[in-house]
Amino acid sequence: MKAFNDTADVTHFIGGNRVRGAATRTQAVFNPATGAEARKLILGESGDVAAAVESAKAAFPKWSDTPPIRRARVMLRFLELMNKRRDELAAIITAEHGKVFSDAQGEVERGIDVIEFACGIPQLLKGDYTEQVSTGMDNWTMRQPLGVVAGITPFNFPCMVPCWMFPVAIAAGNTFILKPSERDPSASLFMGELLKEAGLPDGVFNVVQGDKVVVDALLTHPDVKAVSFVGSTPIANYIYETGAKHGKRVQALGGAKNHMVVMPDADLDKAVDALIGAAYGSAGERCMAISVAVLVGDVADKIVPKLAERARSLVIKNGMETDAEMGPLVTRQALERVEGYVALGVEEGATLVVDGRGHKVPGHENGFFTGGTLFDHVTPQMRIYKEEIFGPVLSCVRVHDFTEAVDLINAHEFGNGVSCFTRDGNVAREFGRRIDVGMVGINVPIPVPMAWHGFGGFKRSLFGDMHAYGEEGVRFYTKQKSIMQRWPESVGKGAEFAMPTAR
Ligand code: NAD
Repeated sequence: MKAFNDTADVTHFIGGNRVRGAATRTQAVFNPATGAEARKLILGESGDVAAAVESAKAAFPKWSDTPPIRRARVMLRFLELMNKRRDELAAIITAEHGKVFSDAQGEVERGIDVIEFACGIPQLLKGDYTEQVSTGMDNWTMRQPLGVVAGITPFNFPCMVPCWMFPVAIAAGNTFILKPSERDPSASLFMGELLKEAGLPDGVFNVVQGDKVVVDALLTHPDVKAVSFVGSTPIANYIYETGAKHGKRVQALGGAKNHMVVMPDADLDKAVDALIGAAYGSAGERCMAISVAVLVGDVADKIVPKLAERARSLVIKNGMETDAEMGPLVTRQALERVEGYVALGVEEGATLVVDGRGHKVPGHENGFFTGGTLFDHVTPQMRIYKEEIFGPVLSCVRVHDFTEAVDLINAHEFGNGVSCFTRDGNVAREFGRRIDVGMVGINVPIPVPMAWHGFGGFKRSLFGDMHAYGEEGVRFYTKQKSIMQRWPESVGKGAEFAMPTAR
């Protein structure tokens, strides 16, 4: 696969065109594997948001009036183009995010899953109907689009997370403004171009690049009806409060600290494989990464040495090299933050079993690499346990029994994902019922729900009540209308001889 190598400035995408807008401020986009500045990103201003909203608002009447099956056909063409160009998109992701190419391919595929789901929008928008609610009177409900809606997305999935939002929103008849992460913004333009090629009318999908200035302009603009956000918890909280204050529908997915319980009866080799992949895959920069191993009874003594051996031998390289298991972190600041947490863990008294700090990749000495770090004897009072590190750092917490494991996890402020490895059906069942976390895996380390199920955590991992994508996604992007109707007599229509079709 050819590495992505576009050096042009990253612009907005408004009304179907790449535009520079006000372009008063720029920010560097780096290649994390080399540490070199690769492109410049234009940071939007409130005027650019106003232009995008104007364009999306102008496109809304016609798009929302287009029959759902015809909107679905545009999505179907977009799906074909995404499938055809998926590796190019994955290369863009690796170049700006740093994750290994096979992981970027997986991300694109999980995004494509949601596009496939959105192609079923005619079925998903079907309302319900009750005949004869009163004599001569019927009642039905329909779901209608909201208008202009916005999505604000994090750096760690520059294709998949936007795809949690815009395919469903657009297929449901809304027009959309995406504010991607400023760290890896190019995937958004690639998808914008493919949507245009698929026949999406100009203005239905727009991108405004930028930072807090753009986010705040979206949150306060009276014509933005709903905001979907995915990112860290403090910002999710802010988005939820500010959006709600300005009368918007808001779903804001936040940060995480995901635990994996290993019971003494589990297949320990499989549990080690699962922990290594889920803790160090994507350099730990996943909201569903496992960052805490909860080791029950004598499990720790049996598996910590194996985890250490595997953490030490991770193949850490430029993500475009086919044998790479782990790439760099996204930025130098992220690298400094993660290595700072390793120092903090030592200060707090955790046992540093493997120290990933200072890892150098030959030929990529300026890349933002760190190695896999493993801590043992981590306790719930430590900050490295409580806070989201978002890097390749796995903390082992030792507990006596199943109940202590469940209580520990339920007391944590986050509740995004969790996993339990066991061979005991009753333990698995009790775990699923008692755990206060939104997405649960039983012998599955990263239980990201499929496109038709919906994604969302509990506690401070989700603000709002609707999950991303799936049927909840459709509900989030539509409003329900109820109609009651009665007719004194039936209305004649005149004869039609051809099979009726959508027009
Ligand atoms: P982030 O919160 O820093 O940024 C997310 C978005 O918010 C970006 O578009 C950014 O430009 C914008 N933003 C940042 N600071 C802002 C501010 N002060 N005001 C307004 N907008 C602001 O998150 P990130 O570092 O890009 O992504 C990593 C975080 O996202 C982690 O906490 C991770 O757990 C979380 N995440 C959660 C999920 C989930 O589904 N729950 C999925 C992926 C990532």
